[in-house]
Amino acid sequence: MAAEIIDGRALGAALRARVADEAARLAAAGVVPGLAVVLVGEEPASRVYVASKRRATLEAGMASFEHRLPAGTDAADLLSLIARLNADPAVHGILVQLPLPAHLDAAAVIHAIDPAKDVDGFHISNAGRLATGQMALVPCTPLGCLMLLRHRLGSLAGAEAVVVGRSNIVGKPMAQLLLREDATVTIAHSRSRDLPAVCRRAEILVAAVGRAELIRGDWIRPGATVIDVGINRVAGADGTARLVGDVHFASAAEVAGAITPVPGGVGPMTIACLLANTLTAAARAHGLPEPEGLTG
Ligand code: NDP
Repeated sequence: MAAEIIDGRALGAALRARVADEAARLAAAGVVPGLAVVLVGEEPASRVYVASKRRATLEAGMASFEHRLPAGTDAADLLSLIARLNADPAVHGILVQLPLPAHLDAAAVIHAIDPAKDVDGFHISNAGRLATGQMALVPCTPLGCLMLLRHRLGSLAGAEAVVVGRSNIVGKPMAQLLLREDATVTIAHSRSRDLPAVCRRAEILVAAVGRAELIRGDWIRPGATVIDVGINRVAGADGTARLVGDVHFASAAEVAGAITPVPGGVGPMTIACLLANTLTAAARAHGLPEPEGLTG
């Protein structure tokens, strides 16, 4: 294997430690950063995510407010909870765990969140701010990817970057962040012609597709830095489930200069960036200096 493994677990732990230090500094100034997480329904994966967010929030010395609502909650009740959280000065960040039950309109719910508390960075105001180069709260997963890229490469200026995937939560904001870093950015998607050839151009390749091991080693430019956002559950040889990325790790690692593993790459950065966004939101809310380097 030629590639350096980008250790998201170690870098995520370091970021969480930094956030905890900064949170202690804010607490000393009388501000305890607070994150409210809203979970509607009993989806098992969502319950696990919410529990791990709560644990990480408390470990970072922040306040955690958890709101679990029954699956049948109607839009009016959910929106009134969000209005209360928007008005609560102890809450600096609000996250509504997705997916919501089908009868609820996720876009309407997200847009009800005060953009200054939108630590997921999904509000149209934050998306627009990112796209127009203004101060924003940036979606956690692409922010984490950017930090991994910076760690490996330093400056990204002039680099040929390809993002595979154009979702609002990963692909598009990732491309915006790379553009902000002065990379030359291509966004590929399911209708792109000759995807292997597009990928082969990339010095920086970010895969956010949701297709197990789609991107093979012979799609990778030698020496490229590969960030694999995908989390796909597949059956292993012995029938047990295992997680794989959107990149075929073994063949890609023969060619790439550096690559993130799945698990242990992007995932741990996502939750660390959620804490970083909460800290940033708390500092901004109180007009305190923002810790540097946490907003990408
Ligand atoms: P979406 O399903 O919203 O978007 C997938 C994108 O990939 C779409 O733009 C789609 O194109 C494109 N795509 C699908 N199939 C192909 C193909 N065969 N060739 C080229 N492009 C294709 O997914 P998300 O962005 O939400 O997530 C992507 C992956 O990242 C998933 O595996 C998800 O689990 C993972 N993820 C991981 C996180 C983490 O913390 N590590 C956080 C968030 C997501 P089109 O627009 O044309 O349909």
